[in-house]
Amino acid sequence: MTAKVLDGKAISEEIKAKIKVDVGRLKEKGVTPGLAVVLVGDNPASKVYVKNKQKACEAVGIYSEEHKLPEATTQEDLLSIVERLNKDSKIHGILVQLPLPKHIDSDTVLKAINPFKDVDGFHPYNVGMLMIGDPIFIPCTPYGIMKMIEHSGISVEGKTAVIVGRSNIVGKPVALLLMQKNATVTVCHSKTKDLDEVCRSADILVAAIGKPKIIKGNMVKEGAVIIDVGINRLDDGSLVGDVDYDEVSKKAGWITPVPGGVGPMTITMLLNNTLDAARRSTEGS
Ligand code: NDP
Repeated sequence: MTAKVLDGKAISEEIKAKIKVDVGRLKEKGVTPGLAVVLVGDNPASKVYVKNKQKACEAVGIYSEEHKLPEATTQEDLLSIVERLNKDSKIHGILVQLPLPKHIDSDTVLKAINPFKDVDGFHPYNVGMLMIGDPIFIPCTPYGIMKMIEHSGISVEGKTAVIVGRSNIVGKPVALLLMQKNATVTVCHSKTKDLDEVCRSADILVAAIGKPKIIKGNMVKEGAVIIDVGINRLDDGSLVGDVDYDEVSKKAGWITPVPGGVGPMTITMLLNNTLDAARRSTEGS
């Protein structure tokens, strides 16, 4: 079997076209959705992500502003910027790019963001709302994964889903979302025994590990849906996922490429969340 490609780039273009129309409608009512991105320090990958997010905003008509702060910024200064953005009526979404420098406590900063402007969905309030199945903002990567699955007509109900990785930003929320869609979910991590065997039980396998090509062909069930979240840069500069694409695509039913799979969907769901935040602001909630 040769897997069908879950083309995140193409799906995200379709979703962005719709977002652009909806942004236009909101603008006609006098509201321009606005996103503030806060970047502290010089992490090269973060700089690229922030630039891509701004370009994506521009393409759909969302106003965006970047707050670029030096590495030595104090936690107090960062918190006061977040506080100012919380009160700024032209800003509907606030995103503080992670990772933050070591002298700043990320949890304290994320908790300072107004939950109704928390378009990344990382504030404990939003984590809790997702947990009980009544989300305000769904974190962008898990949301993008679910949209991609839905868009491709892949049914989740009753399926066995295995998530490798238990981070707060990917593994845990994607496990919740798949469970809420009636999959039977197992979450694996670095201490999981017999990872290969657990992975082979998956109808839907999500790899969110951060290690190049560790999911091999012999770890995958024939016909499985493979979602590769990993972004790993090799010494030669190329980007690969956590899944060995060449091996796994020969067995899987569906597979996401890297790049061009989960990545574009993540940015698109950020736009979606910013649009939702702006809409919600007009409803006074
Ligand atoms: P984290 O480092 O926070 O989490 C990695 C998880 O993988 C941990 O739960 C860890 O287990 C587990 N793990 C590590 N090694 C193994 C192993 N050998 N076997 C099984 N489990 C293992 O990573 P993130 O969730 O933040 O990101 C994961 C990957 O996804 C990265 O490559 C990142 O760049 C990428 N990413 C991509 C995005 C996109 O838009 N495409 C967005 C966000 C992330 P333990 O908990 O025991 O340590």
